[in-house]
Amino acid sequence: MPQAGLMMELPLLLSGVLQHAEAQFGQVEVVSRETHGPLFRYTYADCAQRARQLANVLQALGLQAGDVVGSIAWNNHRHLEAYYAVSGSGMVMHTCNPRLHPDQLIYIINHAEDRVVLFDASFAPIVKAIAAKCPRVMAWVCLSDATHTAALEGIPHLHAYDTLVEQASDQFEWPTFDERTAAALCYTSGTTGNPKGVMYSHRAIVLSAITCCMPGLLNLSPHETILPVVPMFHINAWCIPYASFVGGAKLVLPGPKLDGASLYELMESEGVTISAGVPTIWQALLAHVEQHQLRFRTMRRTAVGGSAMPKALIAKFMDTYQVEVRHGWGMTETTAVATIGTLPPALSHGPAAAQHDYLAKQGKTVHGVSIKLVDENGQDIPRDGQTQGELMVRGHWILSGYYKGEKSPLVNGWFPTGDIATIDADGLMNIRDRVKDVIKTGGEWISSIDLENVALEHPAVAMAAVIGVEDPKWGERPLLFIVRKPSASLESQEILDFLASKVAKWWVPERVVFLDALPLGGTGKIQKSELRKLHS
Ligand code: AMP
Repeated sequence: MPQAGLMMELPLLLSGVLQHAEAQFGQVEVVSRETHGPLFRYTYADCAQRARQLANVLQALGLQAGDVVGSIAWNNHRHLEAYYAVSGSGMVMHTCNPRLHPDQLIYIINHAEDRVVLFDASFAPIVKAIAAKCPRVMAWVCLSDATHTAALEGIPHLHAYDTLVEQASDQFEWPTFDERTAAALCYTSGTTGNPKGVMYSHRAIVLSAITCCMPGLLNLSPHETILPVVPMFHINAWCIPYASFVGGAKLVLPGPKLDGASLYELMESEGVTISAGVPTIWQALLAHVEQHQLRFRTMRRTAVGGSAMPKALIAKFMDTYQVEVRHGWGMTETTAVATIGTLPPALSHGPAAAQHDYLAKQGKTVHGVSIKLVDENGQDIPRDGQTQGELMVRGHWILSGYYKGEKSPLVNGWFPTGDIATIDADGLMNIRDRVKDVIKTGGEWISSIDLENVALEHPAVAMAAVIGVEDPKWGERPLLFIVRKPSASLESQEILDFLASKVAKWWVPERVVFLDALPLGGTGKIQKSELRKLHS
């Protein structure tokens, strides 16, 4: 008969993370780009104080534990304060993706039953357009001072965040409750049907945040300065706003300025050592750095995920700029990173090409998360690095059911991800495609990610995307979209010959479409659904 352990049972709560940061790292800096331009800086202790003030504001507005507070906001210090104040009070922080269609925003705000919505002034036009259709929202709070808020027109129940916060007491006793209580809510972007809500618990976020600090992940400590470009409105910015408070790393929040030049300038001026974002952001950053022949003075590591990191980009970061790439995989349903690739010791000094090959895969599971593959009949598939199947995931911070969802999405206790992957005997996972993006030609699968990767190795290619289009003979054939680098010349035959020299003949598309830009979704991912609408 197992015996009970004799340890204290204290709940894992986000208020505990905030209190830890204030007590241990009170003087560590948060630097934040204001929506209207200038940089703002203060400390973890200041942030904790303002979070207590905001908690008092929410209470004064009549909100109670369990109520939902929405945000339509960039990565900035006020949004950070809200992360802690809302969840710490036992309420739910609902981060909304501002790039959703207005109808979808209305849907999620009403579905989540937001009582208050915090928004950045840049999103005032959106708020103006949707406010009348969100009847439960009793206050729209502009994340700014009185002056910038006064400039806004046509928004009902409008308040200036700074005015509310500055008038409130900075004394607040964080309540204690069950660690399984809901802390945050994020809706999946849902290319079909309505978005689905993923409700994160305090326990899930705290465990995930602690894990993010591990050396093999983000390695967060007071020696590091981290810049999350990944938005705070999407999967909790991979839990970095929480993890940095656990580990004590200086936090740099870029606000609305996400172009290559602005990010580079911020990285250099604030001594950023680690950054995190999707590949398209890094493409723009490296284009700027290359064009102006710059170097990274302090940046040592970049965590990348959200979509597959092209091998050509990995090579450039590692070999040209000596920035280590950590390629991870996760989804809204997994709270933050679920797998991460970090070079094993044997490869650390190995040949560059082998390093790039390794890091182009999505890595191994972090402790607390398990993955497996199943075939079309739900049968487990061997971990041989070859056989591909649907990736299934489970763990301490993986979704068990959608908010107000009627049916459990789980299959035998596992969450089906909709990703097609391989896993090798050593546990290394490689995403091959989304189930819906898979190209099946003459009964064989082509990985669109692999084809895109190869196209991106061509020096004239800035961006590449591959979709499957119907074909009377083969069922489907790949169609390649290319965005050329500025002032580069490239014609169809040249890129097709290039592909033919690198992949099997039957993988080479018959057709290439050149575009000025690829459609990007709210989180910077290429929207293949849009390409399909236009070109299938
Ligand atoms: P979302 O929930 O919107 O963040 O989307 C999650 C999806 O993004 C996953 O199911 C994958 O299809 C994709 N994804 C995330 N990280 C990667 C990665 N490193 N490589 C390829 N696809 C990725």
